[in-house]
Amino acid sequence: MAARTDVPAVRTDVLIVGAGPTGLTLGIDLARRGVEALVVERADALLPGSRGKGIQPRTREVFDDLGVLDAIHAAGGSYPVGMIWQDGKRVGEHQMFDPAEVTEDSPYTEPWMVPQWRTQEILFGRLEELGGKVAFGREVVGVTQDEDGVTVRFAAGESVRAPYVVAADGGRSALRRSLGIGMTGETVDPSPMLVADVRITGLDRDNWHIFPPSGEGDGFLAICPLAGTEDFQVVAQFAEGASVDVSLEGIRKVVAARSHLAPEDVTEVRWASDFRPRAALADRFRDRRVFLAGDAAHVHSPAGGQGLNTSVQDAYNLGWKLGAVLRDGADEALLGTYEEERRAIAADMLGLSTSVHRGEVRRGEATRQLGLGYRESSLTEETRDAVGAVRAGDRAPDGVLGGVRLFDAFRGPHWTLVAVGVQAAEVPEAVRVIRGGPAQGTYGSGLFLVRPDGYVGWAGDQAAGLMGYLARFGLR
Ligand SMILES: Cc1cc2nc3c(=O)[nH]c(=O)nc-3n(C[C@H](O)[C@H](O)[C@H](O)COP(=O)(O)OP(=O)(O)OC[C@H]3O[C@@H](n4cnc5c(N)ncnc54)[C@H](O)[C@@H]3O)c2cc1C
Repeated sequence: MAARTDVPAVRTDVLIVGAGPTGLTLGIDLARRGVEALVVERADALLPGSRGKGIQPRTREVFDDLGVLDAIHAAGGSYPVGMIWQDGKRVGEHQMFDPAEVTEDSPYTEPWMVPQWRTQEILFGRLEELGGKVAFGREVVGVTQDEDGVTVRFAAGESVRAPYVVAADGGRSALRRSLGIGMTGETVDPSPMLVADVRITGLDRDNWHIFPPSGEGDGFLAICPLAGTEDFQVVAQFAEGASVDVSLEGIRKVVAARSHLAPEDVTEVRWASDFRPRAALADRFRDRRVFLAGDAAHVHSPAGGQGLNTSVQDAYNLGWKLGAVLRDGADEALLGTYEEERRAIAADMLGLSTSVHRGEVRRGEATRQLGLGYRESSLTEETRDAVGAVRAGDRAPDGVLGGVRLFDAFRGPHWTLVAVGVQAAEVPEAVRVIRGGPAQGTYGSGLFLVRPDGYVGWAGDQAAGLMGYLARFGLR
């Protein structure tokens, strides 16, 4: 038989393109499942910038499961209260988020502020701790696929072959373009925005300082102390068609023009960028063996802080499915449920981000992302006639059962069977069982099979059908 000439030197089970929050999260999830994965990144280092700085409550739960929550908590802090300024005077406080009380089933109800560069460092550290790798300085320029796998080509000429590839290469995704997948969407706001991490003197760190537009043509200026650092994040909106100057001089000018600060109070610019808020969704999240995740699949206004969070949760949805197919022998059809589940969530999130941007919706219950779930998914089986507060497809809440904290029991790559007030079924060894009763506050009673990503996949009063359900995932 003739030797194939196109076999590249490097192979891996999953090639992840892009070491942003999406790629790093997926890398962690696959590493802890023992799936061989390689993250490749165009830049020579993780990207700088505070960008997506709000870790929403649901993402805090995900980070708990992935083993990075303590580091995330240590690196950041709560959001400060907004302070409105006018003519150099404080004129009133502004509550940015609707408050919510911590309960036994939801231990985190506030967004936690961590600059994105720091979140990425923490995720990267965790990936390395688990034996995962990022190959920096590798720009992907093309992708071809056949029945057996995908070949990814780099700008430097080398290539890698893998059964599955994940495009986590951001909003301008080269992979998405190479696959010819379109984005459908709209411009949310034609006004360009400046975002910059700066050092400023003469401004306290106890408030998020907001300077509303004072004259015609001006947009707002907001200066937020970045928790865990000495930096402030400056965000400024400009008139439609204006060009944004991201230099130190340009930022000094806008800060001095719209606030009581002097130009020299801005002492250093550590990172700066400009953008125009858009909302767009990829027409497909998959092309055969290549999956789109994170900003490669959806771009949106930063208002409401949904971007990084939705991106991390895309990776969290895809990770266990790739693991089930590659490690447990689950049917490949499982991978089709990634697009089914996440594209619907992303579409809703785009609408939410646009509404928050336009001031139509407040940051509160919806932006926390705790109510998101997969009730309509083809993976969801609710077998009870009388359902309680928690139904199949819902996020599995925290709580205490039989003396065990449920989030402690869920932590790790496994499935968990929660048996409340009914007899636990015989299940494969890979499924952890937690029993208690007679009833648990939020769950009520019944059998709840919790997926590795913390959603109830199957619920029943008794075990009939449970083993058949588990077999779909290669668990026998
Ligand atoms: C200016 C700005 C402000 C933002 N503000 C907020 C905010 O306030 N709140 C919020 O939630 N979100 C915000 N976001 C969005 C948030 O940053 C993104 O949702 C998040 O970064 C998405 O993560 P990702 O990993 O999917 O993509 P990215 O973070 O974009 O990461 C993609 C990675 O892929 C790499 N890459 C790209 N092309 C290639 C290639 N061809 N080959 C190899 N590697 C490649 C890039 O270098 C990058 O490291 C902001 C974004 C920007 C740009």
